[in-house]
Amino acid sequence: MKNRETLQGSCLCGECQYVITAELKHFFQCHCTQCRKTTAAAFAANIIAVPAEINWVSGADNTKRFDYPGRGFTQVFCETCGSGLPFLDKSGKMLFIPTGTLDNVPTIKPEANIFWGERAEWVEHGMGAPRQKTFGD
Ligand SMILES: [Zn+2]
Ligand SMILES: [Zn+2]
Repeated sequence: MKNRETLQGSCLCGECQYVITAELKHFFQCHCTQCRKTTAAAFAANIIAVPAEINWVSGADNTKRFDYPGRGFTQVFCETCGSGLPFLDKSGKMLFIPTGTLDNVPTIKPEANIFWGERAEWVEHGMGAPRQKTFGD
C-alpha cells in the first residue's frame, strides 16, 4: 500500500496517546466555517487516512466524542485537558488526524486550502505577520 506510514500523537496532558499506521490519503487545511468553529482555530489542518483504525497507546477511555447533527462534523477530545484527537468519521471508513496532535513529522504535506472562500478575513494577514520566537519583548 503506497504512502503507508506510522504517525504518533498525543494530547497536551499526555493522557491520550495514539499510534496510527495507515495510508495517508490527503492533507487538507480546511477553512470552512464549521471547521473553524469546531477547532476554535483559524483553520482545521487534518490528514485523512485509511484504513480507519486508531491504536490507542493510552487514554482510549478518556476521550469524549461530539457528532454534530447533519453534515458529519465530529470532534474527539481528551476529557482531562480538552485537546482534540483523531477520530473516525460517522461511516467509520475515514480517519481524520488533526495534525496539531502529531508528535512526529508526516511525509505528506498540505495539498490544498479547501473552502478558501469561507476563510477568516485575517488569515492571510496573519501568515505574513512578524515572526517572533516567543510572545515577544
Ligand atoms: Zn489530555
Ligand atoms: Zn471544514
